[in-house]
Amino acid sequence: MKKIIISVIIVFQCFAISSQNKDSVVISSIFSNALTSPASYENLRHLCKDIGGRIGGSPQAAKAVFWVNSVLKSAGADTVYLQEIKVRSWKRGEKESCLSRSDKYGKDIFNVCALGGSIGTGKKGISASIIEVQNFDQLKQFGEKQIKGKIVFFNRPANPALYNTFAAYGGAADQRVVGPSIAASYGAVASITRSLTVVTHKYPHTGIMHYIDSLPKIPAFAISTLDADILSDLIKDDPSLKVYVRSTCYERPDTISGNVIAEIKGSEFPDQIIVVGGHVDSWELGEGAQDDGIGVVQAMDVIRIFKELKLKPKHTIRVVEFMDEEMAQRGGRKYAETVMKSKEKHIAAIESDEGGFTPQGFSFDAGENVAKRMDQWKPLFENYGLWLYHKGYSGVDISFLKDQNIPLFGLITDSQLYFDYHHAASDVFEAVNKRQLQLGGASMAALIYLIDKYGF
Ligand SMILES: [Zn+2]
Repeated sequence: MKKIIISVIIVFQCFAISSQNKDSVVISSIFSNALTSPASYENLRHLCKDIGGRIGGSPQAAKAVFWVNSVLKSAGADTVYLQEIKVRSWKRGEKESCLSRSDKYGKDIFNVCALGGSIGTGKKGISASIIEVQNFDQLKQFGEKQIKGKIVFFNRPANPALYNTFAAYGGAADQRVVGPSIAASYGAVASITRSLTVVTHKYPHTGIMHYIDSLPKIPAFAISTLDADILSDLIKDDPSLKVYVRSTCYERPDTISGNVIAEIKGSEFPDQIIVVGGHVDSWELGEGAQDDGIGVVQAMDVIRIFKELKLKPKHTIRVVEFMDEEMAQRGGRKYAETVMKSKEKHIAAIESDEGGFTPQGFSFDAGENVAKRMDQWKPLFENYGLWLYHKGYSGVDISFLKDQNIPLFGLITDSQLYFDYHHAASDVFEAVNKRQLQLGGASMAALIYLIDKYGF
């Protein structure tokens, strides 16, 4: 009996090893294919250089949707279709201006941009005294008496002491997202927020802000970190400093757009879906390369890789290129709503929206069964520099699927430089490294291969 048991164990182990070897070979071919194909990099070049920045509702976003559709078709997807949504359509208008006047120092000009969703100042602009604060408590201490009629300058930096740049960003984001409304509640006439980046440079970084309904709306700006430091020094030297700001941004009626969806049909379980995606829309100051052109072309590359390597998935692989992540996330919301209504079974959803830098692993928002599987698969990823696996946030667009208990994954990359580019004019094609971009697509394709084969 003992002999039989030992034999069974040996046969099982041999099977497990040969299966692991087979997986290693497939994963190696996925990485080789991605690293030798110009497709993702050339696709990114087209998206950035020929289409450019593409905020929801813009002609560029419409052009991008059309183009993404055609690339997914030519990559060999079995079906490609548009999931229609209405998107918010905010327009920046003319280039914004900001300057200071001081009896002591004369005139200074600053690099600013309007925050996404902000109202404009009107053509004449706004001229007022300025008051610098670090947080909402300080704003409260100054109170209406000292704030009314002034421009509030939120100048708390994204904390450079933090290793995780997403945490540094998140720790300062309240000043951008709700700062303008909080300032308005004390009678401020406009707000200027220090850009949410740890780097000191000349680019202002935009991003969404939300007005609180019950409070007056005031024009909201972001100022570059370099200019924020200069402005802060000027205010210290001359508290009577006057600042002029001007923007002509406005909101247009909602516009029809959509998520672009493409599939490779599963051979055994076509009704069971593995989603992979990024978001097509981007802020329009730059070319939307790191955020999130890379995610779009990497998801496209998953289809191309599976087709070229003739990998036939058992489950349906569905690429969802989301629309409107930056303004109102209507693409992500609509997709989740449709899944809920149709009761479509989703095995997993993966998003790449942390920049096209060297991949380090995956975050997952899922149960213990998924954690256990990830642990088993770790050795297969070791050769490719993927070492980081932790429970955590996956991505904005797929986060709306969380309520439906779908395992969510985010591609983790080396984030040290991400916020040098995020939402700024510096986010251009040249900011992306070809190999790092290719590795991201390969990492997601390899994870999908394993999820498809073994499930959770
Ligand atoms: Zn993004």
